[in-house]
Amino acid sequence: MAEMYDLGIIGGGPAGYTAALHARSEGLSVVLFEKEKLGGVCLNRGCIPTKTILHCAEVYNELKNCTDLGIDVENCSLNFEKIIEHKEKTTEKLRRGLELAIKNAGITLVNSEAFLLNDKQIEAEDSVYNCKKIISAVGSEPRDIKGLEFDHEFILNSDDILNLRELPKSILIIGSGAIGVEWARILSTFDVDVTVVEAANNILPVADVEISKRLERIFKQKKIKFYTSTTVKKIQDKVLYLSSGDEISVEKILLAVGRKPCTDKKLGGVTYIGDDCGEIQLAHYAIKQAVSEIKGIKFDRNLIPAVVYGCPEIAWVGKREQDLDGEDYKKSTMLISALGKSHCDNCSEGIIKLLSQNDKIVGAHIISKEASALIQQILIAMQNNISVEKLKEICFAHPTYSEGIFESLFKL
Ligand SMILES: Cc1cc2nc3c(=O)[nH]c(=O)nc-3n(C[C@H](O)[C@H](O)[C@H](O)COP(=O)(O)OP(=O)(O)OC[C@H]3O[C@@H](n4cnc5c(N)ncnc54)[C@H](O)[C@@H]3O)c2cc1C
Repeated sequence: MAEMYDLGIIGGGPAGYTAALHARSEGLSVVLFEKEKLGGVCLNRGCIPTKTILHCAEVYNELKNCTDLGIDVENCSLNFEKIIEHKEKTTEKLRRGLELAIKNAGITLVNSEAFLLNDKQIEAEDSVYNCKKIISAVGSEPRDIKGLEFDHEFILNSDDILNLRELPKSILIIGSGAIGVEWARILSTFDVDVTVVEAANNILPVADVEISKRLERIFKQKKIKFYTSTTVKKIQDKVLYLSSGDEISVEKILLAVGRKPCTDKKLGGVTYIGDDCGEIQLAHYAIKQAVSEIKGIKFDRNLIPAVVYGCPEIAWVGKREQDLDGEDYKKSTMLISALGKSHCDNCSEGIIKLLSQNDKIVGAHIISKEASALIQQILIAMQNNISVEKLKEICFAHPTYSEGIFESLFKL
């Protein structure tokens, strides 16, 4: 008789591999199915490769602009092919680590597409796997727009752009969510002529409005052109006709208007986690769902941090000012340029904005170097309901960006 597994998991991305590793640590027998590469979108086509290229862009930018610091770099030039090689090596190294962790944990890995037969059976490679419980974590795929379908040559998605071996001279990015903004930052640093088109009223419309406005200023400084409240009406002979009346001719288009879940119809009795749920499509949310499912550790879905990488980083958690319209709240805003550390680092762009109600922080919005780390500090306070008064008792080291949080507390 075929073996019975305690848990069958379809999809080896952050949701699937996290569930698998935690289930094994609980002593469950686990079979994990992955049709492509372990690590999913995050490791192979998302978070890790883009942040690796972004790091290269930041180094390039620093080297080009360090004369005032007393450092002269001669012949600072870009080898994009080498950057892509470095990105591939980085993802490979991490993937090998993950493969080893899966193997060492004693998880049965089946490198094949898997199909749900029912809530207790999975079929792969002509075999049927019996499982007491099944988790489906099959992820999401890039969404396109009618009339702007991906052709993978001219109209690219976030997978295609990672496969480019040569930089285009110009690009139009449709959509200014995290993916659009990060690529705008990468490509403009690499001297590509970048234009962003956003249908909403502001760039990065998921953020607090003040943060969006600040980012628009940063875009202008970086010579990233952008249109808000604008859509692409049609494309003809590589010319884009915008709803604003403008006509733009570009070498490539990156369509970054979100991702859609891979599963159309969910099967009763099967647990669905990660991007496929169509809730918050972030790797850390997928990981948190997986841990919660296996270990029963609860988490607050309203306290999921968001980070947009680049220089400076953008991070937020909780309510935005526009969410508090008509409610009583206090607000503090402070400029990053007020912090000594920002001048030491030659990176004084940004703000820390805190929103509070009844002496508790309900939202935090940051543009700053290290914003991704700063937001975690505030999140710990929010999650634990620590009052603003109590937070003032904490000693923050000097010189740090954290001092900005300390200062902001007194402005609330
Ligand atoms: C360009 C980009 C940048 C991103 N940056 C960030 C970031 O900085 N921070 C962040 O938190 N998130 C980021 N994300 C989002 C993040 O990648 C996803 O939220 C995360 O990968 C979701 O994990 P998942 O396990 O649900 O799905 P996935 O990572 O999509 O994994 C699903 C896996 O299931 C496999 N699979 C699907 N169907 C089957 C089947 N039938 N049989 C076997 N295997 C199957 C797939 O091959 C895939 O490996 C980014 C995404 C993109 C595209």
